[in-house]
Amino acid sequence: MSVGNAYKREYALGLDKQDGLASFRQEFYVKEGSIYLDGNSLGLLSKRAEQTLFSLLDSWKNYGIDGWTQGEHPWFYLSENLGKTLAPLVGGSPEEVIVTGSTTVNLHQLVSTFYKPEGKRTKILADELNFPSDIYALKSQLALKGYDPSEHLIEVSSSDGHTLNEDDIIQEMKEDIALIVLPSVLYRSGQILDMKRLTAEAHKRNIFIGFDLCHSVGSIPHQLSEWDVDFAFWCNYKHLNGGPGGVGGLFVNQKHFGRHPGLAGWFSSRKDKQFDMDHTLTPAEDAGAFQMGTPHVLSLAPLIGSLSIFKEAGMENIRAKSLKLTQYLMDLIEHELSEYGLTIQNPKEDHRRGGHIYLEHPEAARICKALKEEKIIPDFRTPNGIRLAPVALYNTFEEVWESVQILKRIMKEERYKQFKNEREVVA
Ligand SMILES: *Cc1c(COP(=O)(O)O)cnc(C)c1O
Repeated sequence: MSVGNAYKREYALGLDKQDGLASFRQEFYVKEGSIYLDGNSLGLLSKRAEQTLFSLLDSWKNYGIDGWTQGEHPWFYLSENLGKTLAPLVGGSPEEVIVTGSTTVNLHQLVSTFYKPEGKRTKILADELNFPSDIYALKSQLALKGYDPSEHLIEVSSSDGHTLNEDDIIQEMKEDIALIVLPSVLYRSGQILDMKRLTAEAHKRNIFIGFDLCHSVGSIPHQLSEWDVDFAFWCNYKHLNGGPGGVGGLFVNQKHFGRHPGLAGWFSSRKDKQFDMDHTLTPAEDAGAFQMGTPHVLSLAPLIGSLSIFKEAGMENIRAKSLKLTQYLMDLIEHELSEYGLTIQNPKEDHRRGGHIYLEHPEAARICKALKEEKIIPDFRTPNGIRLAPVALYNTFEEVWESVQILKRIMKEERYKQFKNEREVVA
């Protein structure tokens, strides 16, 4: 198609026609008449996820206590089995991944396991753009060990307020650092950090390094084993569509198998030993050791169906379409919205941008309210950020086109002015 047509609806329709993943949209409950661009905060429900949730309710109904070992998906092995299915999405071996806990709980578990302050090495390195929950967890872990978080948590600063420079991070990898915890994809700007390089640099200095994959799992491919990352953790309710508050995941490099879980419980046990009820724990010999208590079976259930979609669609295909969608969105924003003071603050290069676009505007809170009024679902991040995530599995190029037209109308007619420029309770 000629360049002249690139900003017309027909062009978007043409892209949708060529889209090899288009058929997956009908697998999801996409609300008629609205455009959902918030899959990076809470992914939509798929019919397969709904079905596996019902299937596990049926096991409860039909088997009672025996659902632990019987039925289509025996509960006792569910976390392990889901870990195996999820492993390719993070580039781990099947034994290195377990579906358990939540982001924050898993971070606590992994810091409890890997943070062993000794001699001069007592500090934890993170970054000032990190998600608050991660920072709260790290500070409380330091306090539990008797350290003053204001001295022992080093937060690498950002020079532009949006992105981190890997060189700045490496410069802070000093000999008093015991542990590094960083995001794979920054939750605001969507920047991808170079995990391979950061891991190699940390290991040169004998420092353990772990990543929070909340914004990258299901959105970009990873090679955690190959990169030799020590550990990682994430939630499954964003790009992986596992359902609100659904069970999270963690990765522990197999070279660390045998390390005693910092926070142990009876589900840390080797499966065959667990019901011996011994007061000495024999931990599982793989990532399973980092579980604690009984799995939240009904909150694991939707992930069974959801992950089958990822397997079928293929992570490389999902990433390829996601890059096209976000590139198209940026092109349209630059072409249609240049006069309205909306600035694109995510990195623009393919290898540095994750699955969402990050815009800033002083009126962002009420622009988001105006978008919602027009049935476009964005994501506001205080004080002035708008995240837009066109998701490969269920969004279309036409929706991207339509969203930009509506945003343009909102800006041109100043429709946002009828709303207060304040965030909602959940934003
Ligand atoms: C979504 C998100 C969390 C949420 O943690 P929960 O324990 O699941 O509430 C934490 N960190 C990051 C970077 C996130 O994006």
